[in-house]
Amino acid sequence: MEKKVDILVVGGCTTGLYFAGLMAEKGFKVLVCDKSPEETLGGRYDVIHIGRGHFSRFGIPEPKPGDPDCVTSFDKSILRSASNKWPKTHTAPILVLRRIPLMKWLADWAKAKGAELLCETSFQKPVFDSEGRLAGGIFRQGNGECTVKARLTADASGIPSVVRTSLPDNYGIENKPLVNKELSYVVLRYVKLLDTKDFVLPSVTTWPQYRIWVGSSYDPNGAILGTGALGSFENAETIFEKFSESGWLPEYELDHVERCLNTRHRTPYSLVSDGFIVLGDAACITNPWTGEGVPDTWVLCSIAAEEFGRAMQNGAYPRREAVWTVNSRYISEQGALFASLFASRQGFTCCTPEENDYMFEQSIFYEDENNRSRNDVVQQIAQGREAGRLSSAVAEKITGALKTGKDIHAHYVNYPKNPADFESWTREADRLWASVQ
Ligand SMILES: Cc1cc2nc3c(=O)[nH]c(=O)nc-3n(C[C@H](O)[C@H](O)[C@H](O)COP(=O)(O)OP(=O)(O)OC[C@H]3O[C@@H](n4cnc5c(N)ncnc54)[C@H](O)[C@@H]3O)c2cc1C
Repeated sequence: MEKKVDILVVGGCTTGLYFAGLMAEKGFKVLVCDKSPEETLGGRYDVIHIGRGHFSRFGIPEPKPGDPDCVTSFDKSILRSASNKWPKTHTAPILVLRRIPLMKWLADWAKAKGAELLCETSFQKPVFDSEGRLAGGIFRQGNGECTVKARLTADASGIPSVVRTSLPDNYGIENKPLVNKELSYVVLRYVKLLDTKDFVLPSVTTWPQYRIWVGSSYDPNGAILGTGALGSFENAETIFEKFSESGWLPEYELDHVERCLNTRHRTPYSLVSDGFIVLGDAACITNPWTGEGVPDTWVLCSIAAEEFGRAMQNGAYPRREAVWTVNSRYISEQGALFASLFASRQGFTCCTPEENDYMFEQSIFYEDENNRSRNDVVQQIAQGREAGRLSSAVAEKITGALKTGKDIHAHYVNYPKNPADFESWTREADRLWASVQ
């Protein structure tokens, strides 16, 4: 089978379906191919939290509690110190959604805009035209094969980044797959609560020192106990077992466990090339502090839809130069913010529990929405060191990481407007990232 479209989107979840809907709305012929069956699309994990307001901001009808995809909503997110003290509260309305019905919601929205969705269709390899430019892909469908020809191929395939990693070295795109140390291993325990202790659910409570959280689930009498760890799922289990001994978790009965991966890598320096864009988890668009990424990647999708929409008018093939504005617009703003957060986060992960406690107590970095200090974090760290509450090694590491984060931010804000300046920009970016683990 062969199909010809304007835009091929590989991966049909929160990223691919949203981008497909935006491009179809502009009148392009859009095909989304996903390897999963339609009824399990999005089933990588079950419950997801998305801020209320993002749907209407990005032009998608907002799910409401009681809709098939929407369980409930809550307002309170709380951070607690390593010894479970000094709670820092943040108020913002959050929707508790289930991913499989959410994907149906988004698929219906994208289809209503004119996009076509082809499931159980797995990307195998890219197709190039006679000039060596990307021109679509070859897919496996059951025992057969399907070739899709397109002027633009969007990689929205999540962590495997199947299109990005299949492009040749000279295509202007970082094409290495993510390796073990660039991933976070997440274990989610869906539990029934036997007592709620101090937890007022629905809500989410996080202990950043241990990367452990208790959040709302689909069951009003239940919760999700989540752990994220570097290296392996076994590490996440070990951290959780140790944390369980603290007695800070509510009493529960285990229902089932989910294991999944999250990205822990900077976004590629360039997101576009000839006839190509990488979006979502495939581009590591994740807030480094929260691990969340859906509305953040919708920011990139919106920019990409505007720029590719313009570059592809009147049947034009979108060359790298014509869509470079996607890079300069995204990377110099949200990209700069996430890159600096990613770099500075490394400093905070080396604190001992006592040091983490001190930072919560003094509201250093961890602040309550009602009690924001105007203090300079670097100055506060120096004071903690003088008071003997932060070791010299940790104080230096945090100060160094904050400085690197600031330098990276400044460098990203000056992202080259012209692809001719990209190589020298990349050299300096490599130098700055070299000190970030
Ligand atoms: C445990 C956990 C909890 C999270 N919680 C939140 C949260 O509460 N809020 C939030 O905003 N973010 C959250 N995130 C981050 C969020 O999951 C990602 O930002 C988001 O899922 C990225 O969506 P995506 O569409 O880019 O990728 P995915 O959701 O991974 O979708 C990729 C799609 O590509 C398809 N695909 C893969 N390979 C191929 C192939 N060869 N051919 C065709 N199709 C293919 C897959 O089948 C899949 O459907 C969480 C992440 C994790 C791991």
